[in-house]
Amino acid sequence: MPVTPASTSIPTPLVVSAAKARLWMGGALLFGLLAYYFIGVDQGAVSVFGSDLHVHEFVHDARHLLGFPCH
Ligand SMILES: [Zn+2]
Repeated sequence: MPVTPASTSIPTPLVVSAAKARLWMGGALLFGLLAYYFIGVDQGAVSVFGSDLHVHEFVHDARHLLGFPCH
């Protein structure tokens, strides 16, 4: 039984301007730093929300999974 290719079209490359690429890279960096902070650092005296532990409890399992010190 002959096998026919699913599609013969050539994929077009994604073209993004330098300004747009910088915007996306900056957003990804900011998101990554915020995720790193809230998962790994936000606790106790350095918490941005003071003594409120809602953020800490929400990411607690992720914190232990990634090996950050906790309690
Ligand atoms: Zn813990």
